Amino acid sequence: MQKIMVALKRVVDYNVRVRVKPDGSGVVTDGVKMSINPFDEIALEEALRIRERGEAEEIIVVSIGTKDSQQQLRTGLAMGADRAILVETDSAPEPLAGARVLLKLIEEEQPELVILGKQAIDDDNNQTGQMLAALWDRPQATFASKLELTDGKATVTREVDAGLEVIEVDLPAVVTTDLRLNEPRYVKLPDIMKAKKKPLDTRALSDLGVDTDSQFNATEYAPPPKREKGIMVEDVDGLVKALKDKGLF
Ligand code: AMP
Repeated sequence: MQKIMVALKRVVDYNVRVRVKPDGSGVVTDGVKMSINPFDEIALEEALRIRERGEAEEIIVVSIGTKDSQQQLRTGLAMGADRAILVETDSAPEPLAGARVLLKLIEEEQPELVILGKQAIDDDNNQTGQMLAALWDRPQATFASKLELTDGKATVTREVDAGLEVIEVDLPAVVTTDLRLNEPRYVKLPDIMKAKKKPLDTRALSDLGVDTDSQFNATEYAPPPKREKGIMVEDVDGLVKALKDKGLF
C-alpha cells in the first residue's frame, strides 16, 4: 500500500498525577509533562512495522491542537514517520469535529489505512475512530491487538469481553489500537536530530472549512474522592467481620 495515516494526540503524560484546577474548569497543564497519547504511540509503532515489512511506502502523522503539538509530531517523526501535518487550533476539538478534520486530511492524502488510538487518555472518549469510519463510509476495526494485511484486506484480532475476535475488513479502513498490539520503540538521539529535517506542515483549522461547533459543554471537573485510610485485620475472621460491619458482606 502507498500511505498510512496515524493520528497523534498531545496529552498529559500518563505518569503525571493529574490535578484539577481550583475553579473546576479543567485540569492543570501548565508546566506538566505532555506526551503522545500512549495508544497513538502504539498506532505509529504498528504503522512503522508494516512499512518495515515492505507493506507500506509512507507514514503520515497528523495532530489537531495547539502549536505545542509540534513536539509530539516531531517525536513521531523521530520514531520513523515520514512527514507530519499539524492542524492548528487553540484547543483540541471534540471527537466529532476531530473526526471531520481527519476526514478532510484523508480526502487530501488518500491513505489506504488510518490508525488511531482506541481512546485518548485525557478525555477517555473512545469515539473518534468510530465516527471517522462512519463519516468516511469505510470499515472500522476497533481495539486491535493484532493486525495483518493481505490483498487489500486487513485481518484484525480484537479484544472483546469474551476474549479475542478476528475480523477481516476491506481497505481503506480505520483501525484503532489496544494496549497489547505492540510495544512502541524508544526514540534514539540521532533520530531526533534527523526528524528536525523531516517535513511538518501546519494548517489552520479555520481554513479547512470543517464544522467544529460544540456539541456538549463540560460543566465541571472534579478530582476523584480521597481514598479512606484502610484498616489492618489479623486474620480471615477479622476480614469477614470488618466487611460485615461495613455492610459489604
Ligand atoms: P478519543 O475519541 O478522544 O478517545 O480519541 C481516540 C483517538 O483519536 C486518539 O487515540 C487519537 O488517535 C485520535 N485523536 C483524538 N483527538 C485527536 C487530536 N486532537 N489530534 C490527533 N488525534 C486525535
